[in-house]
Amino acid sequence: MKRPLIQIKKLTKHYVMGDTTVRALDGVDLTVMEGEFLSITGASGSGKSTLMHLLGCLDRPTSGEYWLDGQLVSAMTDRQLAVIRNQKIGFVFQTFNLIQRTSAADNVAVPLFYARKNWTGGPALKALERVGLAHRATHKPSELSGGERQRVAIARAIVNEPKIILADEPTGNLDSRTGKQIMQIFHDLNHAGVTVILVTHEMSVALQARRVIRMRDGLMYEDRTVDQSLREELLTEGGAAPPVEEAAPRARPPMARPANVS
Ligand code: ADP
Ligand code: MG
Repeated sequence: MKRPLIQIKKLTKHYVMGDTTVRALDGVDLTVMEGEFLSITGASGSGKSTLMHLLGCLDRPTSGEYWLDGQLVSAMTDRQLAVIRNQKIGFVFQTFNLIQRTSAADNVAVPLFYARKNWTGGPALKALERVGLAHRATHKPSELSGGERQRVAIARAIVNEPKIILADEPTGNLDSRTGKQIMQIFHDLNHAGVTVILVTHEMSVALQARRVIRMRDGLMYEDRTVDQSLREELLTEGGAAPPVEEAAPRARPPMARPANVS
C-alpha cells in the first residue's frame, strides 16, 4: 500500500527586501506518494527552486506545515533538518556543485562522512557504478564532461540510499543528448522505488514524469497526470512549444530577483 511521503500544507516563503515582500511561495498544498515521479514546471521566478529548497530541508518555510515520511520537519531545528536531509533526501543541482579539488569517488563519499559511516570506498564506488561511472572514480571534476559531472552529483545524491531525489533543472546545463542520459538515470532510480521530484522549464522533459505540476507567482495552478492528451496540449501550447522560461512573461519585477538565484 502506497503512502504519502511528502505532505505540505499552506506552505509559504516570503523574503523581505527593504520595503517590499517577495512572496516566493504563497500558500502551497501538495501531497506526494511514495514511488511517484513528478515534475514541476513554470516560468523563471515562479517559486520552483524555493519550493525545492524547502522540500529538500535546505531552508525553512515562513509559515505552513511540511510533513516528510510521517515527521513534521517544518518544526525541526537546523541540526535535526541536517540529519533528515542526510538520511532521506538526495539533491541534484543544475550546476552540479562538486568539490573541484577532489576525485569523483571522494565527492560521492561526502554524505557518508556526514552520516558518520566508517567505510566509504565501497558505497561510493557502488553509487558510481549505478550511474555508469565507476571507471572515472579517480578523476577530478575538471577531468570530466558536463554529463559525467552530473552523474557524479547523482551518485552523491543516492549514496545514502535516500527515499527521495530532488533535482532542480538537472539537465539545464547539458546538451539534449546528455540530458536524455541523465533523465534515464532518474527513470531507473524511480523504477527501483525512489520517489523523484524534478524541476524543469523544458516541457518535453517535464512530460517524462507521470505527473506534472505547473507554478506561477508562488502558486500551483495545475496538477495533472501525464497522458497523451496532456502531452499534445502542452507540447503544442504557444505554437512550436518554446521553453516555458522564455515563453512566459516575467512573474516578478527584475529587481526582486537576486543575481545568484536560478
Ligand atoms: P524559480 O526557481 O521558479 O525561477 P525562485 O524560487 O528561485 O523561482 O524564486 C521565486 C521568487 O523569489 C523570485 O521572485 C525570486 O527573485 C525570489 N527569491 C528567491 N530567493 C530569494 C532570496 N534568497 N531572497 C530574496 N528573494 C528571493
Ligand atoms: Mg530555479
